[in-house]
Amino acid sequence: MTLPFFWKNIAAGLLLLAPLSAPAQQHFNGGKALEYARQFVAIGPRWPTSQGHARAEEFLRSHFRHDQLEEDAFTASTPIGPVPMRNFIVRFPGKKNGVIVLATHYETNYPLRNINFVGANDGGSTTGLLLALADQLRGKTLAGYSVWLVFFDGEEAMQSWSRSDSTYGSRHLAAKWGRNGTLGRIKAFILADMIGDKDLDIQRESRSTDWLVAAVRQAARKFGYDRYFFQKDEPVEDDHLAFVDRGVPSIDVIDLDYGPNNSYHHTAKDTMDKISARSLTIDGDVFLETIRLIGQR
Ligand SMILES: [Zn+2]
Repeated sequence: MTLPFFWKNIAAGLLLLAPLSAPAQQHFNGGKALEYARQFVAIGPRWPTSQGHARAEEFLRSHFRHDQLEEDAFTASTPIGPVPMRNFIVRFPGKKNGVIVLATHYETNYPLRNINFVGANDGGSTTGLLLALADQLRGKTLAGYSVWLVFFDGEEAMQSWSRSDSTYGSRHLAAKWGRNGTLGRIKAFILADMIGDKDLDIQRESRSTDWLVAAVRQAARKFGYDRYFFQKDEPVEDDHLAFVDRGVPSIDVIDLDYGPNNSYHHTAKDTMDKISARSLTIDGDVFLETIRLIGQR
């Protein structure tokens, strides 16, 4: 079929106008986050003291070499003795006075060191997420608060989970930032853990700060993501607690339900095929919108 010249122009005009009358929602690039996670997880197991851990550190060091990167090296006292650990902090400055921290852990579980546990979801997916978020944050002064990305070491227990045998990196950094006054500048601490899961169901972590939970809920609603968030309420011990304990508004954005009867969690089944670009798009959209909302407070 051919249209007369006049109608062709009208049709072309309508096509040009279409994006203005119905703006397409801009989405975070979850595919990029998944690709970063794939590269990072390809390092293999990265438990503290392993060669893989050293390679994971080098990956982050190299990736952020042109950014404001700080390495926070320390020695953790653990049930297996002193263990060298290292947090990574990347700073993206904003116009407003104050800081929003987005955090994950990047290492894998030491007690699982003999089962080829690569932590695709547990440590890998959220490392990929933060790497892709960095792509959205660099190269400009942010309109709102500064955003600091933190990659914690030593979230996992070295022997068996307790408050003293776990979350070494976050406890170290929260204490240090308490001593030097940094904590007072933090408007919000947002932790991402295990939210690459294809079957995304993020719980409402019981000790998370109410207004921050409300901000994340509002952000999710903007994109029609309500069903993925906060359908059940549950306490989780995680890297946010050292900040909660010191009065920093904090949230743990976590999906602790991973595979049938949680059968992928802390097993060799935690592999790349269990996580998705779609879930990482949802996470990224909600994190960026939450940052925007906090900036308006
Ligand atoms: Zn874990």
